[in-house]
Amino acid sequence: MKQNGRRNNTGSRVILAVLLLVLLYACSVPAKIKKTALSNPVIAHRGAFKKNGFPENSIASLREAIRLGCGGSEFDVRMTADDSLVINHDPEFHHLSIEQSTYAQLQAFSLSNGEKIPTLQEYLAAGLANNPHTRLICEIKPSTVNTERGQRIAAKVVELVERVGASSRVDYISFDYAILQKIISVNPKAHTQYLDGNKAPAELAKDKIAGADYHYSVFKNKPEWITEANKHNIVLNAWTVNDTATMHWLLDRGVQLITTNEPELLFSLLAERKNK
Ligand code: MG
Repeated sequence: MKQNGRRNNTGSRVILAVLLLVLLYACSVPAKIKKTALSNPVIAHRGAFKKNGFPENSIASLREAIRLGCGGSEFDVRMTADDSLVINHDPEFHHLSIEQSTYAQLQAFSLSNGEKIPTLQEYLAAGLANNPHTRLICEIKPSTVNTERGQRIAAKVVELVERVGASSRVDYISFDYAILQKIISVNPKAHTQYLDGNKAPAELAKDKIAGADYHYSVFKNKPEWITEANKHNIVLNAWTVNDTATMHWLLDRGVQLITTNEPELLFSLLAERKNK
């Protein structure tokens, strides 16, 4: 009986240890991003727009990034005065302030290829169609009105992403730390990366931010952050890298993701490195 009891005890400890290991693995949020990143570091900045002359942040540039097989395609989200989420980098569209204009007012104008300003819903639909590999890198721009509005935008974006079933395909990025914290409070499983470059990887890890998506000069000035990020399981992404010397420098040091206006150039550089 005593022996059985001891055996049961050992058995319970093994089960407990296995459960703990499973729990630890499940808690390592960036695991999914890392896997994609290691196999494909190419993130198209505002879609793959440049080579074909597509407008930045257009559905055409997103589709081109998917066609090229980019690891991710980045885009910028803003909200109109009547709460429509739209895709545009600048705070103005055809000299209209997006946050002070209605969606109908913006519809009077077009992108250079004839598209209307895409809504987030249209963009996500295009990003989910025939897309087995390209993650949707959703930058939420800080509000030009106030920080509270920024957080309201963040909550609305997450709600829409979840409603259309895109949660597992989206990484959220922002220069506004409060926006990322809001996203995590709404969906603790959301993948987030901070853009501003002023926080050490250990601090991001403490706040459950999954990645440091910093200007490449930050990594050049603070290469020790690359080691620190690896220690804390923080994904590294560098923006916006358009020259081969910097691409090599980052890849040599294990930076997992590179945001670029030149995805075709980065793909050819990766092929060259593979053949060496
Ligand atoms: Mg952006």
